[in-house]
Amino acid sequence: MTRVLKNYLSGQWVEGEGAERPLHNPVTEEVLAVSKTGGLDLAAALDFARNQGGNALREMNFKERGDMLNAMAKVLHEHREEFLDLAALNGGNTRGDAKFDVDGASFTLGFYGRHAQKLGESQILLDEEQLRLARSPRFVGQHIYTSRRGVAVHINAFNFPAWGFAEKAAAALLAGMPVLCKPATATALVTERMFEVLASSGVVPEGAVSMLAGSAGDLLDHLQWQDVLAFTGSSGTATMLRTHENIVAQNVRVNVEADSLNAAILGPDVDVETDTFDLFLREVTRDMTQKAGQKCTAIRRVFVPADRMEEVRGELIAQLEGMPAGNPALREVKVGPLATASQRDEVMGGVQRLLGCTRAVFGDGTRGNLVDIDNDKGYFVSPTLLEASDLNAPAVHADEVFGPVATLLPYSGKPAEVADAVQLGQGGLVSSVYSDDKKFVGGVLTGIAPYNGRLHLGSAKMADESPGPGTTMPPLVHGGPGRAGGGEELGGTRSMHFYMQRTAIQGDKVMLDRILGSGQSE
Ligand code: NAP
Repeated sequence: MTRVLKNYLSGQWVEGEGAERPLHNPVTEEVLAVSKTGGLDLAAALDFARNQGGNALREMNFKERGDMLNAMAKVLHEHREEFLDLAALNGGNTRGDAKFDVDGASFTLGFYGRHAQKLGESQILLDEEQLRLARSPRFVGQHIYTSRRGVAVHINAFNFPAWGFAEKAAAALLAGMPVLCKPATATALVTERMFEVLASSGVVPEGAVSMLAGSAGDLLDHLQWQDVLAFTGSSGTATMLRTHENIVAQNVRVNVEADSLNAAILGPDVDVETDTFDLFLREVTRDMTQKAGQKCTAIRRVFVPADRMEEVRGELIAQLEGMPAGNPALREVKVGPLATASQRDEVMGGVQRLLGCTRAVFGDGTRGNLVDIDNDKGYFVSPTLLEASDLNAPAVHADEVFGPVATLLPYSGKPAEVADAVQLGQGGLVSSVYSDDKKFVGGVLTGIAPYNGRLHLGSAKMADESPGPGTTMPPLVHGGPGRAGGGEELGGTRSMHFYMQRTAIQGDKVMLDRILGSGQSE
């Protein structure tokens, strides 16, 4: 009998009823489990989290919440091998891809656990310094942040079932808000197992974390004005969530991480056989192939000085030839399948749209030649490199193809021109500049910063240290304007503000010093 995913709600493991949604093995297409979320009392689950979980977390100070995050990281790490196996089974991950997700989860929890120690034994964050408000120094003002009294509902994308849960939960729990996590149904096996481990470990107070393993049902109808909603996924779903009648009526705070046409710019100063050029090649290749290109931060547009295009194309193709796709269980395979049949179809359709204004220079947006796959099963698309002759090729700046696909675009070598072209993507999570020429980097940086949440400056001096633009850094903001959803996650203390209420306090200095003296300034 097919296994039914369980949901962790109101401190209990419960099965839903009604319509079934299958979870597949993306290599064999075998059904691994089904999700059913009908008939669940989500209003009661939210109330349980608000009261039971919220009260327990608000009794803890930042340091104690940090200790809890460290304990979560530790207990999850102890079960790492199980999660890696499930990521391979349900996500089609290579071992490296699975580690990126699973280790990223415990690393991020651990980062926030350590960060909390700096915030100390307070429950209040102070925002900047006290302000003198009158001629007398006695009348002052101070902004403070306190935990919101609701639930943080987290709706996550299919590509990071482990990290996606952990990165949002770390900030919310540290800020003192209980979490209800709704992983994407297609890859929820990893998240379900993580919750089993957490629930049985006792490291998290009852009600502090809940999980709905499948369709959201009427969840949004029950959100209240002290709750928050953080979403990662497509811009279409984001629009639907933002305009949901109850979300609008209750003024629920919403954070969105959506699509992004991340750019990589090769500076005209960077010759082949330099450390900076090697870094550029390595990072473009990694972003095209890691997680089969299913990373919100993956490089999609590669800007290359026109007079260097031929050699750059040749070097990139040589790299991609060393990245075979196929059975992700094999060590020599570097690119696994896409997570679902619909993602495979989306990517194949997306490549066809891009081919309307580009040509294929490596791969062609099909299965290609696969290692150790001797049937027509599996949701495979082999790495595909496209090239546009026109810097403004419209589909390249409009269509996010969420797979192992990137497009080379020629530019003159001038910072202003390439900055204008980056802007055509209408807002992104991260763009990269590969150059050792400070004037060029400075020109590009000021040109593209308003259109990106993060900039990655790749140069010879940091080449050995670089994790690449595709790796989000817990101390740095993750999010971006426009197409990327306009949201902000991570970034240390900044990420906690979404889960807290900022209140201006004005009054007598002695009174404020007495009451807020133990508050933690950022
Ligand atoms: P999606 O269809 O928008 O799904 C994302 C999440 O929203 C899933 O958990 C999904 O649940 C849920 N959802 C869908 N309809 C809903 C509804 N009516 N009410 C409540 N929840 C609902 O996106 P996707 O196709 O899985 O993800 C791919 C896209 O996400 C890509 O375009 C990529 O750019 C973007 N993405 C962005 C980031 C980032 O950090 N910015 C990260 C990863 C992915 P079900 O799975 O149950 O349908």
